[in-house]
Amino acid sequence: MDNKKEQKENLMEKIVSLCKRRGFIFQSSEIYGGVGGIYDYGPLGVELKNNIKQYWWKKFVSDREDMVGLDSGIVMNPKVWEASGHVGGFSDPLVECKACHKRFRADQIKDNKCPDCSGELTVAKNFNLMLKTYLGPAENTATPTYMRPETAQGIFVNFKNIVESSRIKIPFGVGQIGKAFRNEITPGNFTYRTREFEQGEIEYFIKPDKAESEKQYRYWIDEARDFYLEIGIKKSSLTLREHEKTELSHYSNGTTDIEFDFPFGTSELAGIAQRTDFDLSQHQQFSGKSLEYFDEESGPSTGSGQGKKFIPYVVEPSMGIDRAILAVLCDAFDQSDGNDGREKGEVTLHLSAKIAPIKVAILPLVKKDGLAEKAKEIYKSTKSCFTAYYDESGSIGRRYRRQDEIGTPFCITIDYDTLKDNAVTIRERDSMKQERIKISEVNNYLFGHILE
Ligand code: ATP
Repeated sequence: MDNKKEQKENLMEKIVSLCKRRGFIFQSSEIYGGVGGIYDYGPLGVELKNNIKQYWWKKFVSDREDMVGLDSGIVMNPKVWEASGHVGGFSDPLVECKACHKRFRADQIKDNKCPDCSGELTVAKNFNLMLKTYLGPAENTATPTYMRPETAQGIFVNFKNIVESSRIKIPFGVGQIGKAFRNEITPGNFTYRTREFEQGEIEYFIKPDKAESEKQYRYWIDEARDFYLEIGIKKSSLTLREHEKTELSHYSNGTTDIEFDFPFGTSELAGIAQRTDFDLSQHQQFSGKSLEYFDEESGPSTGSGQGKKFIPYVVEPSMGIDRAILAVLCDAFDQSDGNDGREKGEVTLHLSAKIAPIKVAILPLVKKDGLAEKAKEIYKSTKSCFTAYYDESGSIGRRYRRQDEIGTPFCITIDYDTLKDNAVTIRERDSMKQERIKISEVNNYLFGHILE
C-alpha cells in the first residue's frame, strides 16, 4: 500500500477511535454486539450535531424571509411512497455470494466475484431500501407502511397546508431537518452510509419555468457549498460533480453532488436537484387534491390582475447531517509531527468555534488556596452563555491537551495573580497564544471570537 493511502486509512481508524474514546459517536447497542449501520451520538457528539443543525436552520430558515420550516412525521400514509415512486423504484441491485452468503450491492462490485471470498455471486435482484413497519396492534391485519427514506416527501404533502396557513408567496422554500431510514445493503465507512441518519432538506418552490429553475439551481448549489465552508470545511476538500444527462432521473433537469475528499475516497455529501413539478403532480394525481398554486401576480397578460394557477417547479438541496459531521471531523483532525510546538502524536481537532461542542474550558492552575472557588465562579457565569467545561484534575498541560483533542477553542486559566488582579489567561487552541484579560471581559471576548 502506498504511504498516502495508508495514512488516509489510518486516519479513519483514528477518527473512529477518538469518537468512541471521547464520547462523540458510539456503535448502537454495543453491549449486545451492536446493530448494523446504526450509530449513537454521545455527550460531545450530540453537541456537535446540534450546533451543525442549528447553524443549518439559522442560515437556511430563520435568517431568510423566503423560507419557513416544517417537522413532519417519520411514518406517513403508505400512498405517499407509491406516489413518490419509492415503492416501485427505490431499490438497489442485490447480489449474494453462493459460498459465504454475504450480500452486496451489484453496482459496487467490480469483477462479479464476492469481494470477501471470491465466490460466485447470484443474479442481481432489486432490493427495496425502505424499512417496513406496521401501524396498529395486529401485525397480520395492519397495513404495512414505511419509515421515511427521505424528509422531502413530508414537505410536498404539506405544500397546500403551508401555502394556506402562512400566506407565503412564490418563490419560497420549506426547510426540514429530520431522521430518514434506508435498509442499505452495505452500510459502512463509519457514519457515512448508515441505515438511520439525519437529513436537512429544502424544497424551494418557483414558477414552472426552465430558465428560472436553472437560475435557482445554480444559486442553491452555491448556498449549499457555502454552508460547508461556513462550518469550517476546507475549500480544497470539496468538489462539485454535475450528473451526466444519462444519470438523471426522468423528471430531473439537472443534479449536482457536492463531494468531500473522505479518507476512503471522494464521496457525496449533498445533492442539489431540479425536480420540476414531478412530486407535486404525482401527489395531486394520487391524492385527488389540487396542489396548484394561485399566483395573483401572473396572468394571461402580466399585471392584468387575473392571476394564474400552476403547479410550481422545485429545486431541492438535500444534505446529510451525519455526513457533514464526519466531513468536519476528517478535515479538523490533526496529529502533530512534533514540529508545531506540540508533542509528536498529540491530536488537535481544529473545529470552527461556531460548531465546537465545548466553547470554553475553565481550569484553575491548582485546586487549593481559593483558586478552585474563583474558577467555579467564572465557570458559573460563562456557562450561562456558552457550553463550558470545568476541569481541575491533572497538570495544566494535560488539561490543555484534553481540550485540544475535542476541539475546544478556548481555555481559561485561573492562577494566583487572578486573586489579586481579577484577570485570567485565555489560551487559543490553534495558535496556542495566551492573552491576559479581565474576568469582567471574558464573556464579551468569547462572544466576539465565537460568533465572528
Ligand atoms: P448515495 O448515492 O450515497 O446512496 P443518495 O444519492 O442516494 O446517496 P440522496 O437520496 O440524494 O442520497 O440523499 C441526500 C443526502 O442524504 C445524501 O447526499 C447524503 O448526505 C444523505 N444520505 C443518503 N443516504 C444516506 C445514508 N445511508 N447514510 C447517511 N447519509 C445518507
